[in-house]
Amino acid sequence: MDKITDQIHVYFLPMMAPGHMIPLVDMARQFARHGVKATIITTPLNASKFSKTIQRDRELGSDISIRTTEFPCKEVGLPEGCENLASTTSSEMTLKFVKALYLFQQPLQQFLEEDHPDCIIAGSFFPWTVDVAAKLGIPRLSFSGSGLLPLCAHYSLMEHKPQLKVESETEEFIIPGLPDTIKMSRQQISDHLKDEKETPMTEIVNDILRAEKISYGAIVNSFYELESNYVKHYREVVGRKAWHVGPVSLCNKDNEDKAQRGQESSFSEQQCLDWLNTKEPKSVIYICFGSMSIFSSAQLLEIAIALEASDQQFIWVVKQSTTNEEQDKWMPEGFEENLNGRGLIIKGWAPQVLILDHEAIGGFVTHCGWNSLLEGVAAGVPMVTWPLSAEQFFNEKLLVEILKIGVPVGAQAWSQRTDSRVPINRENIQRAVTKLMVGQEADEMRRRAAALGKSAKMAVEKGGSSDNSLVSLLEELRWGMSSSN
Ligand code: UDP
Repeated sequence: MDKITDQIHVYFLPMMAPGHMIPLVDMARQFARHGVKATIITTPLNASKFSKTIQRDRELGSDISIRTTEFPCKEVGLPEGCENLASTTSSEMTLKFVKALYLFQQPLQQFLEEDHPDCIIAGSFFPWTVDVAAKLGIPRLSFSGSGLLPLCAHYSLMEHKPQLKVESETEEFIIPGLPDTIKMSRQQISDHLKDEKETPMTEIVNDILRAEKISYGAIVNSFYELESNYVKHYREVVGRKAWHVGPVSLCNKDNEDKAQRGQESSFSEQQCLDWLNTKEPKSVIYICFGSMSIFSSAQLLEIAIALEASDQQFIWVVKQSTTNEEQDKWMPEGFEENLNGRGLIIKGWAPQVLILDHEAIGGFVTHCGWNSLLEGVAAGVPMVTWPLSAEQFFNEKLLVEILKIGVPVGAQAWSQRTDSRVPINRENIQRAVTKLMVGQEADEMRRRAAALGKSAKMAVEKGGSSDNSLVSLLEELRWGMSSSN
């Protein structure tokens, strides 16, 4: 009986976007493997994307479950079924989506009253959870989906505002006070950091920042050896507690879990493996720009021509807008037919971790989303960095300048909109891809990436830095439970 009452019960409330849900679900599974009772709160459509995985974990003995509540589509004027940020197709829809997240307070409160968990880990887009947790006298940890370097860089820009003291969009400034000299320009940072005028998102961003300040702490999908200086900086300069428990993707050990992570691909696990198994180790480049980034036809054409000219083998994940009637019209004549086994194009969703973990993969062209960065690091592969928006330009600095396992493609300007991005030309893409795969510099990067991959795996093993961080968080929660009894 004692064991049952001693068991910590943690609620996980992931923001409904692939880059947030995928790692937070993995994290919940990791907590459950440490004896925690884990409950994931989400909507039915989102739950269907990971319910098979959770069922398998339950059969293996984890105390993990999902509680669902309807997404308030109608209430905020979103079409039925628009339950994930990835389904929004305009900034108006995105704003409605973010507002809808505030309507989860009532159902969550009801669940909390029934279950009385000991802690809430919530996506930072649910700032109100800090108030709900305070009322219940339990800690709320926030999960922003990014790493510690980008969190520290963001904090510094909010505090010191060097971006408001430059004269042009391209003039560089140093992000003040960081452990490394990181230079950025205004064109590489998000709108809310440079616009002093109010936008419809201002109120929400301010609410998120308020909640971060008074949260019990942050939980981060990262590991000490990856950004040790920023672990320290976050604690000592930003002044907040953080637990680094990643890379959480490493909790997916078997191929079925890897293949179904996020959602099922149109390409089966076996099709991917059969193709990859025919390739030499480290001979294939994997190209994918995350879960939501759509490229214009002009940009897709530049990539196709660069790949054709580069003579490298590749798997290229192509996502196109569902409203785009020009689907596939961008492809050079005969491109797919003439690949002859040299390349594989996956349209839609790819089993990314399954692919990255295959020994045939020698490099990754990435938009530098934090999950992709970490999955590339965990797989021990060097990367071509092609940041687009969010905190991705900070992440590029980590890969290229600090870890020295990245080759920049030359992306200069932050933009969420496909149509406002200036395409990167074929020469720049080909040059970056060749530098990634061929020559002495490529060998050195590969060696560094392999070493980092090893330390990522060690971090989540028993006694590793991330495992220790998780254990110490659980001890702290247990201590909190016993002192409040
Ligand atoms: N992902 C995947 N298949 C795809 C696209 C993305 O499995 O075709 C996963 C990827 O492994 C990662 C997440 O989706 O875990 C994307 O997160 P990231 O932070 O890299 O980028 P975002 O999508 O948030 O921009």
